[in-house]
Amino acid sequence: MDTPPLAPGLYIVATPIGNLGDITARAADILARCDVIACEDTRVTGKLLNHLGIRKAMRRYDDHASADVRERLLGEMAEKSVVLVSDAGTPLISDPGYRLVREARELGLAVTSLPGPSAMIVGLTLAGLPTDRFMFAGFLPSKDKARGDVLAELAAIPATLVFYETGPRLVASLTAMEQHLPGRELAVARELTKLHEECRSGTPEELIAHYSAHPPKGEIVLLAGPPPAPAAPAADDVDTLLRAALEHLSPSQAAGQVAKAHGLDRKALYARAMALKEAP
Ligand code: SAM
Repeated sequence: MDTPPLAPGLYIVATPIGNLGDITARAADILARCDVIACEDTRVTGKLLNHLGIRKAMRRYDDHASADVRERLLGEMAEKSVVLVSDAGTPLISDPGYRLVREARELGLAVTSLPGPSAMIVGLTLAGLPTDRFMFAGFLPSKDKARGDVLAELAAIPATLVFYETGPRLVASLTAMEQHLPGRELAVARELTKLHEECRSGTPEELIAHYSAHPPKGEIVLLAGPPPAPAAPAADDVDTLLRAALEHLSPSQAAGQVAKAHGLDRKALYARAMALKEAP
């Protein structure tokens, strides 16, 4: 039975991040049946297509491409099936494609996305850090001041932070994290899905010592666990906090304020606030 031709539009297709066996059956099928492939580097994508035994028209595309190049691709999408891939992983994730997708949607063209590998998700699943809430923050700036400013901005976010990193910059980033994200558990996930895959966890100090002695090669996902919970104040301190709050708040409000600020049990604080109010 002949496979039906693909409907016109844009197909965003994730590709492997190292292990070619990670191409999905659907991705291989769409790459084989599409009319045109837009890619960052025709040599890199050419190798993947060779591996799959596919020959296809390729167009170079990145977000700095001229408006003309984008216009041409958008024009083709009205009548042809156009696949967008990046060199590796999921397009648009620290990779080109955002502008193309946005403009395709604005023009009412069909856009669909085929899920597959992304280094940030592989790193997150491997690191053993909390995954219920995380923030992907892409690459940190390379200059010390800008890197520190970004980390200071992210420091208050109660979530695991996920960054992309390169070997030559890893120790500088770990050092900045030691300063701006103190007390966090960090993880370095390296060469994911490849022969020398590694995931190493530790404090900033431990990881700085290790990677200064063993300069890392290859591609890296760097993760920082959520900020540590603030240390619970001692009982005497709790009384001091409650007394201060009771000067301008009701016992219920004072208990609520102190409970929120220090992650304590509101009911127990309310009982204590009532006792302090009666016998200050
Ligand atoms: N779009 C890709 C994705 O979905 O993973 C990411 C592209 S970004 C330009 C490249 C960065 O992703 C690398 O510098 C590295 O931080 C991370 N990366 C890609 N492949 C990786 C791998 N196999 N192991 C660890 N990190 C990887």
